[in-house]
Amino acid sequence: MKFTTSWDDGYADDLRIAELLDTYGCLGTFYVCPRGQHRQDMLTQDQIRDLSTRHEIGAHTITHPRLTQIPENDARREIDESKQWVEERTGKPCALFCYPYGETNDRIAQMVQDAGFSGARTVEQFRFCDDDLFRLPTSLHVYPFPLRPIFNRRALSPLLTAWPHLRELGIPVASLRGWLPFSKAMFRSAHERKEPWFHLWGHSAEVEKYGMWQDLADFLDYARTFPDIEMVYNSDLL
Ligand SMILES: [Zn+2]
Repeated sequence: MKFTTSWDDGYADDLRIAELLDTYGCLGTFYVCPRGQHRQDMLTQDQIRDLSTRHEIGAHTITHPRLTQIPENDARREIDESKQWVEERTGKPCALFCYPYGETNDRIAQMVQDAGFSGARTVEQFRFCDDDLFRLPTSLHVYPFPLRPIFNRRALSPLLTAWPHLRELGIPVASLRGWLPFSKAMFRSAHERKEPWFHLWGHSAEVEKYGMWQDLADFLDYARTFPDIEMVYNSDLL
């Protein structure tokens, strides 16, 4: 089974993610965007270039808009210019794109293709293969589980999103007590079923905000112990 990871937005904390990936012999694709978000420090130009020597860098627009909700010309410019922006920083061709908020449709996907990208990632979870190169889904989000750490009606959303998939994945109820046991059970299940790949994704800013660094390290350490795991970049799924 192939194992890949991806990290969105280009936060300075991505360097800590890269360090963890290096420690456990894993690979990542970092979808970076020039626009700062959530008042976080972002990667500098030199840091992006340095990251590109060990991991893969993908594009994620210029201003992080919802591409389906802005005029088509603006969407096209966001997509085209982000490819150029990444390539200027890394000095390499940029093959992959990631839709902000996972928002896309047929026209947007076509624009991404027209811009010369080879594929694009969404935020869909609980998937372990796909043939649509411009709607590549993921397997699991690094995010608090089973509850969001907020007290409102959306607190249950991580569990409710996972619920329809639990039976088909054979996830034991005892694994639902936290993100780490849940992620391990999902990985084990995908490996047993001989799925083509497992794609972990997240935001370093959330890993920091929700104190998930140790969980992430433990998961990577767990995943690498399986036989015949091939560590790959997102582009190796295409
Ligand atoms: Zn994003």
